[in-house]
Amino acid sequence: MTRDPVAPEPAGEGGQGVSGQSVLAVFAHPDDAELGCFGTLASLREVGFGVHIVSLTSGSSSSSPHAAWRTAEAKESASVIGANLVIENFVDGGLELKRETYACVAEHLSRTNPSVVITHMTGAQDHQDHETAGMAALTMAGRCTGVKLILQTEPPLMNNLFCPNFYVDITGFMPHKLAAVGQYVSERGKPYVAEQAIRDRATWWARQAETHEVTDTRYYEAFRMTKAKLHPQWLVPGLSAPAQEPLA
Ligand SMILES: [Zn+2]
Repeated sequence: MTRDPVAPEPAGEGGQGVSGQSVLAVFAHPDDAELGCFGTLASLREVGFGVHIVSLTSGSSSSSPHAAWRTAEAKESASVIGANLVIENFVDGGLELKRETYACVAEHLSRTNPSVVITHMTGAQDHQDHETAGMAALTMAGRCTGVKLILQTEPPLMNNLFCPNFYVDITGFMPHKLAAVGQYVSERGKPYVAEQAIRDRATWWARQAETHEVTDTRYYEAFRMTKAKLHPQWLVPGLSAPAQEPLA
C-alpha cells in the first residue's frame, strides 16, 4: 500500500521545543499515547520539550460504532498540550512489520530528532498492532545516537508480562491526561479508559515508586526502560550536560 498520512497536524510550537529537546511517541492507534504516557509527555512539554505523537493507523477498525471519530478526537487530545500529531494510514488491525513500516518510523525519527522515544511494550500479547509498532520503533530508535532514553508503556490489557523499571511522577499532569483521554468519546465504555481505572493504575504505580511515602494523592506512569544514556550532571539541579559528548 502507499502510505498517505491522513492527518499531518503540526500543533503548537512543535519542533525541538524551547529546551532544544524533543520527545517522539510512536504508537499504533489514537488513544494509545494518551493511555500509556500522556502525563509524561505533558511533563516534558512543561520543561520545554517539543512533543511529537505518531499514530501509525487511524484506529478505524475499533469495535466502537464511532471509530471514524478517532482522528478528530486525536487532534483535540494533542492540542491539550500543544503536541504535534501525525496519523499515518497503515491498516488498523493489520499493521505489518515490513520495510515500509520501518521506513515510516525512520522518517519521523529524522524529522523530529528526539532525545526521548516512547512506544509500546513488546511481547505483551495484548494487540498485534502494538507489537508491530513497538518493534519498529525500538529497532529504528535504537540506532539513533541522539536518542538518550527509550521507554515502553504499560499495555492497557493483558499486562501480566509488564515489569516496569522506570517511573515518572505525573501528579501535576493528571488533569492533562484525563482531559486527553476524555476527548475519545468514541472509546467510552471500554474499561481501561474510565477515569477511575486511569487513577487506579497511576496510584498503584505511585505506591511502587515511592515506597516510603504516603502516596494516596500521587500519580505515576510506569515504563520498561530499554535504553538510557546518563550524564551525572542531569541529576544535579542547575547543571546541564556538556553540549558535545566526548568521543570514546
Ligand atoms: Zn492501541
